Amino acid sequence: MYFSKLFIPILKNNPTEAKIKSHQLMLRIGMIKQASAGIYSWLPLGFKVMKKIEKIVRDEQDKVGVQEILMPTIQSSEIWKESGRYEDYGEEMLRIKDRQEREMLYGPTNEELVTDIFRSSIKSYKSLPQLLYHIQWKFRDELRPRFGIMRCREFYMKDAYSFDLNDDEAVFSYNKFYLAYLKTFERLGLTAIPMAADTGPIGGNLSHEFIILADTGESKIYTDKRIFEVKNKDITLEKESLKKLREKYEKYYSVTDEKFNEEEFNKNVPEEYRLKTKGIEVGHIFYFGDKYSRPMNASVDYKGKKEFVKMGSYGIGVSRLVGAIIEAKYDDKNEIMKWPLPVSPYECAILPLISKNDNSNLNKANNILKVLKDNNIDTIIDDTEENFSAKMKKFNLIGIPFQIIIGKKSDQNLLEFKELGEESKNINLDKIVEIIKSKK
Ligand code: ATP
Ligand code: MG
Repeated sequence: MYFSKLFIPILKNNPTEAKIKSHQLMLRIGMIKQASAGIYSWLPLGFKVMKKIEKIVRDEQDKVGVQEILMPTIQSSEIWKESGRYEDYGEEMLRIKDRQEREMLYGPTNEELVTDIFRSSIKSYKSLPQLLYHIQWKFRDELRPRFGIMRCREFYMKDAYSFDLNDDEAVFSYNKFYLAYLKTFERLGLTAIPMAADTGPIGGNLSHEFIILADTGESKIYTDKRIFEVKNKDITLEKESLKKLREKYEKYYSVTDEKFNEEEFNKNVPEEYRLKTKGIEVGHIFYFGDKYSRPMNASVDYKGKKEFVKMGSYGIGVSRLVGAIIEAKYDDKNEIMKWPLPVSPYECAILPLISKNDNSNLNKANNILKVLKDNNIDTIIDDTEENFSAKMKKFNLIGIPFQIIIGKKSDQNLLEFKELGEESKNINLDKIVEIIKSKK
């Protein structure tokens, strides 16, 4: 891919309207464009990153046995009246009327719709558990949309729902998501900590927010630093193994604002491990029993008895994650972004020095591109006539983790190769391929 042919509208300076680095960078390197307040178009670079994140999110849902569906963005108000949330949700819900004057809405979440899907078909406890997810746009008319796609009105979310016969089985389902979330964030290069959270308008009694540390985050957290060392290796999808996983984390005090209690914190956490800081909520899981199944009459037959199913819901902010990764990875001091390889818009950038009448470096770049392509390395060539320092500065911001720099003396046996943030070295192309592949 040639840089000059791509739609990557780079700005010379940081946009002044953006207050935090992820918002600045996303506008600066042309990942998004605001369409109206809190509503964004995703341009090629931003969309590519989001799609890569989505793929990892999807993969980890599939691995724990969740089935993918797709529900619409527009919902009827009827089911929300059944659950009682049509009134409760307030002004965050975007309400619309169709030409027959029917009350519709743009879905802020999908508990009602998925419960309606469930109750129309599942009648026996033998079909449980049912775990369903979709990845779809949501709309919440936030009071103060801000920080670009971090708190916007239209955003892309993975939301999953579980249906079980009883509390014990429901907690088992909950714990599968707990594991899937830890694995998802790990693959995205993030350390996201599960924190006991309030259940808020969704209601219920068990809930965790997955939070990554960041000064610019909007969640206040209170935690025992030792929780960062907990490992989730060797966990299987067995009930007992998942229970142990939760216990490993829950040994350490770790809560969000609403659950915070100073006395408990001081009692449970030795002073040297106490951490009061800020973070970004990237995922949130809830267990809420029959809060929706009872009013919506979603039940199964259990040996001749009618049982309302026990439900949970599980969200990941797929679009918010793009910004969250920037907040976590951007090096402010050196103005370098380095995407984790699995979600980087490209894996490698070739930066040839090109002058008007000499195509030789571009030809070398094309030959290298072919080899990288054959090795499935997603690569971009900067074919502009900018000087080296301009190219480097641009690509430090774009954040592609590997760069190959081609000057006069370069050939396939001696290329300047650089991993962002590290010293460059002169090596041959085979070695470069080997290094990039080993990091994939
Ligand atoms: P927040 O506390 O940040 O407002 P929430 O608790 O209202 O979020 P949930 O209903 O738990 O959000 O939604 C699941 C996930 O969707 C959140 O963890 C977050 O990553 C993402 N999300 C929620 N609201 C927004 C928004 N306005 N813009 C972007 N992503 C969002
Ligand atoms: Mg939440």
